[in-house]
Amino acid sequence: MLEINCNKCNAKCCQNEKLIPVLLPSEEKKFKNYSEIIITPYRKLKVLKRKQNKCIFLNNKINQCKIYKKKPFDCEIYPLSFKLKDKKTEIFIDKRVCSNLKKMNYNKKKLLSLIKKQQLDENWIKAYNLIDDF
Ligand code: SF4
Repeated sequence: MLEINCNKCNAKCCQNEKLIPVLLPSEEKKFKNYSEIIITPYRKLKVLKRKQNKCIFLNNKINQCKIYKKKPFDCEIYPLSFKLKDKKTEIFIDKRVCSNLKKMNYNKKKLLSLIKKQQLDENWIKAYNLIDDF
């Protein structure tokens, strides 16, 4: 869906304690044995579990995702993310971890349409934007 060419940073995003992959409501069942609940002021969200502050799906020996082709949407779009601005969904780049990003090649319209397809309510998106502070 997206072509994101990173600098082969040894999966810094998957082992950053602040970056917790949030599951879309449609992914919760698929990852039910690998997720936990986080309660935010807006609503509960399900996120992937972590082990020693790293994603449980990270292969620590080679620093690669064990479920690369089936990873959650949140991982698939990273370092892109989205938020609400004046009630409209807006795409942004999260540069906190991915500062070495070489080239970003993505179709904004397509990504927005994929997000829209998920029918995420306002509280879900607000909670999603807060998750890194938990
Ligand atoms: S599911 Fe894979 S891509 Fe997503 S954080 Fe875990 S190891 Fe990284």
